[in-house]
Amino acid sequence: MSVTIGAPLTATATRVMLLGSGELGKEVAIELQRLGVEVVAVDRYAGAPAHQVAHRAHVIDMLDGSALRALIASERPDVVVPEIEAISTPTLQELEAEGGLRVVPTALAARLTMDREGIRRLAAEELGLPTSPYRFEDTFAGFSRAVRAIGLPCVVKPVMSSSGKGQSVVRSADDVAPAWEHAQTGGRGSGRAARAETRPGAGGDAGAGGDAGAGGDAPGERVIVEGFVDFDYEITMLTVRHVGGVTICEPVGHVQVDGDYRESWQPQPMAPAALARARAMAADITAALGGWGIFGVELFVKGEEVIFSEVSPRPHDTGLVTLASQDLSEFALHARALLGLPVPEILQLGPSASCAVVASGQGVPVFEDVDRALAEPTVQLRLFGKPEVLGHRRVAVAAARAETIAAARARARRAAEALTVRLV
Ligand code: AMP
Repeated sequence: MSVTIGAPLTATATRVMLLGSGELGKEVAIELQRLGVEVVAVDRYAGAPAHQVAHRAHVIDMLDGSALRALIASERPDVVVPEIEAISTPTLQELEAEGGLRVVPTALAARLTMDREGIRRLAAEELGLPTSPYRFEDTFAGFSRAVRAIGLPCVVKPVMSSSGKGQSVVRSADDVAPAWEHAQTGGRGSGRAARAETRPGAGGDAGAGGDAGAGGDAPGERVIVEGFVDFDYEITMLTVRHVGGVTICEPVGHVQVDGDYRESWQPQPMAPAALARARAMAADITAALGGWGIFGVELFVKGEEVIFSEVSPRPHDTGLVTLASQDLSEFALHARALLGLPVPEILQLGPSASCAVVASGQGVPVFEDVDRALAEPTVQLRLFGKPEVLGHRRVAVAAARAETIAAARARARRAAEALTVRLV
């Protein structure tokens, strides 16, 4: 098969639409731009990172199926690339089924990974991958029973959330009600709305979920209660499905704070048996989702035991380390795979690490001491260009290589800490 790429902004253009325009989408947009692709970036707010490097930018509510359908009809992309979970994935499935629209990796993969339930049930119940014990509940009474059934400690997360939002650990009976409340306010607030939309004829119910106090059976934001895994370390297996087969990158180790990635490194040293299991699980879950593109398969490792956590059918934040560690970053790999281009052997450039820069407060982030942050060799910075911070927000990342993982982590951390973020 020969791949042809036309000239952007002409009738011959190869047009890709990104649904979600955050920092990961920005890197994908840049890689697509390098290959002469016409890039259309979509997000729910103006001035998002990928908006700033796209040929055209749009602001819509991507959970609104008719708005999404209208935008796709007017832009007529060759390929649609979801970058976030909060999208009307049933609309993508309809457009894919009606013919023509290619969704990366597939509309079904976007649908199943849209909330924690679809992917957990696929992994545990259909593929038989080892996971922590889990239950899904949407009332406080059911939730309390689930906590008793799973046992303490357990982890509670809204099914529609990411980056640790609304997540907490229940360690004692006193934590049960606060964990429920935290999950009710920390989800995307659209869990029930999005699920309602997946049922034929059902209308959206946006805004629901705030009415469920810790007192009864009123349905609220749906949560997963899962057993706490006392892992030795956690990894992301970046897995690329492409025209020539499947390529699995070296394991990426990472540290999360409050469920949010702070540091990652590659390669994570692993016992050969654990690595073989991790690779097999990454191959299995991505084969079940299908299509072409990169996936971030999140696993917990304890000794030689490997436990599936979740998977994203798109570049993964912990994979930002590949900006320093590989000749083809996860973003370059995604761009190649989704265009049907070959992914030959990936060159490992040496022990590498990334360190996220998180700003807290309110205002426009301004970076000072950028020169200091870039003083050491091999250091790369990405300043995402986010127009505003409200609360906690990742605004930049540093990545670096060194002789060892420990030295690379220290170097990436020094660079991140040298950067001063002022909110004005
Ligand atoms: P998630 O949003 O599900 O990726 O969770 C974010 C982070 O919380 C993970 O990367 C882990 O560090 C931690 N975590 C999530 N689930 C569990 C669990 N069942 N046991 C222990 N830690 C967990």
